[in-house]
Amino acid sequence: MSYEAYADETLGFTTRQLHAGYNPAEHYRSKAVPIYQTVAFELGDFDRCSRLFGFEEEGHSYVRYSNPTTSVLEKRLTSLEGGSEALGLGSGMAAISNVFLNVAREGDEIAAVPTLYGGAITLLKKILPEYGISGRFVEKADDIASYKSAINERTKAIFVESLGNPGMNIIDLEAIAELAHEHGIPLIVDNTFATPYLLRPFEHGADIVIYSGTKYLAGHGTTIAGMVVEKGGFPWLNGKFPQFESFYEEYAEKIGRDSLDRTMFVKRLKIRFLTDLGAHLSPTSAFYILQGIETLSLRMERHVENAQKIAEFLADHPQVLSVSYPGLPDSPYHALAEKYLPKGAGAILSIRLKGGLEAAKTVLRNVRIFDFLANVGDAKSLIVHPATSTHFGQLKEDQEKAGVYEDTLRLSIGIEDVEDLIGDLKQALDSIGNVG
Ligand SMILES: *Cc1c(COP(=O)(O)O)cnc(C)c1O
Repeated sequence: MSYEAYADETLGFTTRQLHAGYNPAEHYRSKAVPIYQTVAFELGDFDRCSRLFGFEEEGHSYVRYSNPTTSVLEKRLTSLEGGSEALGLGSGMAAISNVFLNVAREGDEIAAVPTLYGGAITLLKKILPEYGISGRFVEKADDIASYKSAINERTKAIFVESLGNPGMNIIDLEAIAELAHEHGIPLIVDNTFATPYLLRPFEHGADIVIYSGTKYLAGHGTTIAGMVVEKGGFPWLNGKFPQFESFYEEYAEKIGRDSLDRTMFVKRLKIRFLTDLGAHLSPTSAFYILQGIETLSLRMERHVENAQKIAEFLADHPQVLSVSYPGLPDSPYHALAEKYLPKGAGAILSIRLKGGLEAAKTVLRNVRIFDFLANVGDAKSLIVHPATSTHFGQLKEDQEKAGVYEDTLRLSIGIEDVEDLIGDLKQALDSIGNVG
């Protein structure tokens, strides 16, 4: 057998989501990717041990640094994303926090949109400032001038979510990437809601992509995981990032200059942070993410088809004040959706209800198929009240900037039969009028 599907980057997305990065011949020809449930690997001889620990030879020594199951996942996502290297971590938040620590040092700033996952906001506003790194929020995520005024000589990255939560606002990635590069800094994109099937930020200028693998990559609400992917080619040695210069001096000879040039961000993340902050992804979790990814494109097609129909149904319902979904023609993000998300505008949407908080409570009490819980990206449909859960404890004005009001509900549309989902929402919304 000379043909190697696992290494053929010309294959389509759906073929690669099943084959990329896994060569069964290296694993006793096991067709499924094996779970290497071990803490450590035999080091062999004395010289191999020093090569492994010196990062001169690829291989596995201790599972906190790397393991073969997670390596397959990293290679698969690198292929699907079109990047140079990826790293698995224990959760989406581990991915975000480790990325921030890799890109910024004491005295530095990270410019970010205000429409972020709550955990990322807390990191930038409350946790990292205690270590001398601060987040500077752009006033308006839709206005390029706002980004310009959030950047100064201390800024080391721009951080956005391609599709914001829960308002489903779409960031104009190409414009923001251009601005970042004019300032010699990278654009970092949390692409969790879009997935590499609907949107590949590297094709629009992004430098680093982050996922909460917990959501659509896992796809079934079973596993917590995070991923970081590097595009390769960002000039980390441009004088703004002294931490990468000292790292380069230390590792260029061992790893090889060409390889290190293309994978510097992930290599430093792995060698400095994964190794010693310890947020590793367990091999068993990596297996579940790999299994989820096998059906990613198929699920996403169904997720977005259902979401579009449900958004249209909700927009016409008399109890609904407004629907935030970029697939609707009157959405302020419709043009950006056509540009960046031609396969579908994701499957998360939020609604505001005319009947206020009481109406929201009634819907949550009456849904039968939608589950009331704080997650997204499950194959099953989910509903939540952001003001008292995902955005709990934030100032009212910050909540409103993110599109969260007391009458807001966020829906994560699953892959069930759409008639059943519409029927469920219809009976729950129709019951609002009947409240005491
Ligand atoms: C869930 C989520 C995270 C955090 O991921 P965990 O895996 O729960 O740590 C980060 N960003 C976005 C957009 C998310 O939806």
